[in-house]
Amino acid sequence: MLYWNEELETLPWDAVERWQAGQLAPFLGALRQRSALYRDQWRDLPAELAIERFEDLGRLPFTTKQAVRDAQDRAADEMPLGAGQAVPTRDLVQVISSSGTTGAPLYYGLTAADVDRMGDAIANNFFTAGIRPDDVVAHLVGLPMLAGGLPYADAFRRIGAALCWLGGFPTDRILREMRRLRVTALLATTSFALYLSEEWAASAGEGSAPSRLAKVLCGGEPGLDQPEVRRKIEDGLSITTLRDTMGLGDMIPGMWGECEAHSGMHFNAQKHVAVELVDPDSGARVPWREGATGELVYTALARDATPLVRYRSRDHALVTGAERCACGRTSPRIRCIGRTDDMLIYRGMNVFPTAIRDVLVKDSQGRLDPAVRIWKESAQQVRFEEAIQVDAEAVSGVPADAYAALARELEAQVRAQLQVRIALSVLPPGSLPRSVYKNSLLAVRGAP
Ligand SMILES: [Zn+2]
Repeated sequence: MLYWNEELETLPWDAVERWQAGQLAPFLGALRQRSALYRDQWRDLPAELAIERFEDLGRLPFTTKQAVRDAQDRAADEMPLGAGQAVPTRDLVQVISSSGTTGAPLYYGLTAADVDRMGDAIANNFFTAGIRPDDVVAHLVGLPMLAGGLPYADAFRRIGAALCWLGGFPTDRILREMRRLRVTALLATTSFALYLSEEWAASAGEGSAPSRLAKVLCGGEPGLDQPEVRRKIEDGLSITTLRDTMGLGDMIPGMWGECEAHSGMHFNAQKHVAVELVDPDSGARVPWREGATGELVYTALARDATPLVRYRSRDHALVTGAERCACGRTSPRIRCIGRTDDMLIYRGMNVFPTAIRDVLVKDSQGRLDPAVRIWKESAQQVRFEEAIQVDAEAVSGVPADAYAALARELEAQVRAQLQVRIALSVLPPGSLPRSVYKNSLLAVRGAP
């Protein structure tokens, strides 16, 4: 078996969108009866929505995170998920939480049919990213209620892989059990994979089984598109397969995944979700064309419990491929370049923290570690009038008396390439704190 869903994964993309439009018409047509959120939101739209072609989706307004939050605040005893709840509570079988990295978490419901759809979509994604039935998979997310908790576990089992849910154990136990259970694959944040790449060899105890780890799927944060980060993880873990994945807890927590061609992440949720790329300022549709950038917007093709239509993900993507891939798949490929919530503004110029890190790591040509910290004065700070303070670590082998010159050289590169002024401090190896689960590129001065 080469594909999870051969027909939809290899059909030309415009034909996939035509098929999706056919799915959308009845789903959207009935939504106003089911959902108070969309009854309100579409108050001024005609009774007949007339969604015939995929492009017709563009006539519907976007749904923002704030609208979902407001709808959720209208919770009542009979509707615990608020105005976005589109089925009676007796039909709910599960509630999941978006991770809440920005603001309070949002909760989404699933009916049995929703669990089935979500499981299929995530399984499709993990299959594209290389998971097979003979894999023994370590699942390292500790909290089942998170979108990356039970839904991911369901998807691994759906593929037929052996699920080892090690998340929640102390790290030393996770490392020990991974060897003992002959784990062949794991899914982790890029930060955890980097941490593991530093600890894995040393964690082999007396008489412990040799590593059988061969596949690592990363997700949850950008960073894997940097060759230095990839090399570090591949070398540290001696693995053959390293793939990037991405999703959105509000919709489906695993929708994008890299294939063996390593040319960006494919969209793998086409059976259940429609995806659009839009200009984040004007909201206009941006065609899937190599080199294009925009914000990802998602619409469920069918969702019973808490459906979302044209949901603004706040994830910004660069299209890395829009033609048929070498693997035979036809869905667009992207890399994630950042989130709206992380965007900084230096004297009117928008810049993603990841863009600063990418220039530093790339132009240091191996002299800097990918662990980089960008400092804000407060959690709310977005605008900078003075140079943005950045800390980075030199790798061992770079003499301390060369740090200052390296810093000045890279400050000039960032200024030339991004029109942004930074004040870079190059620090000795190991100076920056490492988080096991997620390393934020952004940190607040004086915060714990
Ligand atoms: Zn491919």
